[in-house]
Amino acid sequence: MNNVNLQKGTVVVLKKGHPCGKNLWEIIRFGAVCKLRCLGCQREVLMNRVDLRKKVKKVVENEGNNSSDN
Ligand SMILES: [Zn+2]
Repeated sequence: MNNVNLQKGTVVVLKKGHPCGKNLWEIIRFGAVCKLRCLGCQREVLMNRVDLRKKVKKVVENEGNNSSDN
């Protein structure tokens, strides 16, 4: 997904879930390397931004201030 607006605070579903059974991740740091926290078990993982965009299936929540177009 290249056209989604990802940033700190965004909650996403990935194409592949976490072994804990939950597939809901919050972006807690967004940069060249992003840090995501699993909302099921609170574990944190690092992922580079290019990989992250490839793995995002859906954006669940976006707290950002970019509320422009769809
Ligand atoms: Zn987990």
